[in-house]
Amino acid sequence: GEREPHEDVRPQSPVKPMTATEVKVNVSIPEAANRAAATGADGVGLLRLEHMILSTDKTPERYIRDHGADAYIEEIVSGVRGVADEFYPRPVRVRTLDAPTDEFRQLEGGKDEPNEHNPMLGYRGIRRSLDRPNVFEHELEAFRRLFDMGYDNVEIMLPLVNDVEDVHRAKSLMKDVGIDPSIRTWGVMIETPASALCVEEMADAGISFASFGTNDLTQYTLAVDRNNENVASRFDELHPAVLKLIGDTIETCRENDVDTSICGQAGSKPQMVRYLVNTGISSISANIDAVRDVQHEVKRVEQKLLLESVRE
Ligand code: PEP
Ligand code: MG
Repeated sequence: GEREPHEDVRPQSPVKPMTATEVKVNVSIPEAANRAAATGADGVGLLRLEHMILSTDKTPERYIRDHGADAYIEEIVSGVRGVADEFYPRPVRVRTLDAPTDEFRQLEGGKDEPNEHNPMLGYRGIRRSLDRPNVFEHELEAFRRLFDMGYDNVEIMLPLVNDVEDVHRAKSLMKDVGIDPSIRTWGVMIETPASALCVEEMADAGISFASFGTNDLTQYTLAVDRNNENVASRFDELHPAVLKLIGDTIETCRENDVDTSICGQAGSKPQMVRYLVNTGISSISANIDAVRDVQHEVKRVEQKLLLESVRE
């Protein structure tokens, strides 16, 4: 087992342990913000926009056509604002839209979606956003409004980025809507092997952070569809290849003053927590129910490191 046998019965302190590695929380639905903030998490490591958009039952394109761009922007502003209020001044990392075409297909307007043989390798995340700047710019406009309202704890996170070209193009669109990338906190998800291998160039392009999306990083590194039960036993976030990509990326980011973080499910696994803290990750973001356990695991690993260093 991964845990010491006495650990399960040890009463957990209601007090949040102080850790050098920040422990954050993932938020999928804005309604959970209150419960998420009550965990004492150091911020939101991933706030997904999907729920805010998909719960309108329309694709972004259809929603904008039916209700106008301003309503679309305000949908995002109000969703993010609820979370940013709850956490202020703790940072809230908001990921731009990242739904695959098969999910959009279920919605009103979904018939207009491209028909893809393999949606997970297709038109999603930053790829779709850069290909449809007229929609993406409305998302960025929502960020600009939030910044103008004083939400300086809001951060922009770009999904499924591959390389510095993606970063340059996103950055240029930020500027187009009046966001100054040199004063805002924004960064990328590391979800493809390409992004892990190209992180140094992205650091030069000005990213503030790199956050491991291990659900996707694992599926793309191992070529194991994360939703295919036939290969589910091969889906291993702790595979040496995945850990090597993560470890090397953390090292490169540390050399380049870029924060590192994890917001995939693996961030809740004690073995992954041990690996990440030992490698020097800046923050770990976990689901609401896992935050307290992660806080304690991080504390345990940090104390062990400290003892080892003074006993050397
Ligand atoms: C991930 O890929 O690990 C991630 C956090 O993003 P999603 O699960 O939404 O693809
Ligand atoms: Mg992902």
